[in-house]
Amino acid sequence: MVSVAEALRLVLEDLPVVGCERVVLSAARGRVLGEPVLATADIPPFRNSAMDGYAVRSEDLRGASERDPVVLRVVETVPAGAVPVRSVTSGTAIRLMTGSPVPEGADAVVRLEDARDEESAVRVAQPVAPGANIRAPGEDLQRGETVLPAGRVLRPADIGLLASLGMPIVTVRKRPRVAVVATGDELVDVGEPLAPGKIRDANTYTLAAAIAEAGGEPLQLGIVRDRPEAIRAVLRQALEADMVVTSGGVSVGKFDFVREVHRALGVREKFWGVAQKPGKPLSYGVCGRTPVFGLPGNPVSALVCFYLYVLPALRKQAGAERLFLPAAEAVAAEDISKARDLVEFVRCCLEGEPGHYQVRPTGAQSSGVLRSMSLGEALVVGPAGAAVLPAGSRVRILLLQADCASATPPF
Ligand code: AMP
Ligand code: MG
Repeated sequence: MVSVAEALRLVLEDLPVVGCERVVLSAARGRVLGEPVLATADIPPFRNSAMDGYAVRSEDLRGASERDPVVLRVVETVPAGAVPVRSVTSGTAIRLMTGSPVPEGADAVVRLEDARDEESAVRVAQPVAPGANIRAPGEDLQRGETVLPAGRVLRPADIGLLASLGMPIVTVRKRPRVAVVATGDELVDVGEPLAPGKIRDANTYTLAAAIAEAGGEPLQLGIVRDRPEAIRAVLRQALEADMVVTSGGVSVGKFDFVREVHRALGVREKFWGVAQKPGKPLSYGVCGRTPVFGLPGNPVSALVCFYLYVLPALRKQAGAERLFLPAAEAVAAEDISKARDLVEFVRCCLEGEPGHYQVRPTGAQSSGVLRSMSLGEALVVGPAGAAVLPAGSRVRILLLQADCASATPPF
């Protein structure tokens, strides 16, 4: 049995990163940027007005006041998108819109609200600082600078930056293809009627959804019976994917054949058993360099193991720069009991604001109670050695927010 930290290290130590593909910009949100993006030009490309107003020479307005306003002759009006033909000389102004290029000669823009428009003239009753309301070229992005690093998961603002830079096509990492297999004689698919002793397969759907949310492409290979030959046939097919995730059949039961099949297929097991609850019987190995996860069958165990190990592995394969669930501190709102000898991940609800979270267990913590994950907003990391986390004590939590990731391993 390995520790949680050792298990995470073994999972991440030698994962191949998938290749790149090119996608249109409007399909790039949430994708992992495949190469750094440098600014090929200054953005904005030219000096422009931050306000509707008047381009002026600030020295013309040096003595302007309510009692002694300055009147400037307006020699041109420049809509956004147009180019001024005249320059501002002493005693004149040019009317600008937000985004209009600032004409030569001007060193400031007086806001419309600070001026009185008199058709072909403007009256200003206060001075303006040099540079006021002018956006410099390169204020947003400077030519040559790195705008977005490789590995960035593209957010809406990033997409806008790429548009500003004139990049209709973006190089992103392919989505890792993850084969999902549920094992168990008791399982029936979601649309099938139950028979005595049977339950519906939850893990295929939970895991496929979690994989998609993490940026992977789930390949649902369905349910396989607890027979070595059957498991072997499906796993052989599964091994063509970038990653294999099975559930069930890795414990010590008479019909737990998954590890035996791994061995037969040349999967080199790196560990089996992690000093944690839930998810203790987790198995991990590699076939060549393809990662192969044997998750325990209990739905909570499977999903907790997903968040702790499969998610960072998947993100690493996807070339993402941040791999982990974000960690935070919280205060236990009540006594939280846990297994003394294991690190226990207790599903909790969050109360209060970030930085001042209080956590309360979601209720029954059996690894068969998937509702605890549905209600759970965080996992409390209950350290080994403690049998209870007393009310009022500070605890570490991992936030169950797969769309927000941390660069720092939690362990
Ligand atoms: P196992 O790890 O195969 O011993 O399974 C442990 C428990 O998880 C058993 O109660 C199984 O019925 C249950 N289980 C296994 N696979 C699934 C699945 N795909 N969906 C829901 N429950 C499952
Ligand atoms: Mg089973």
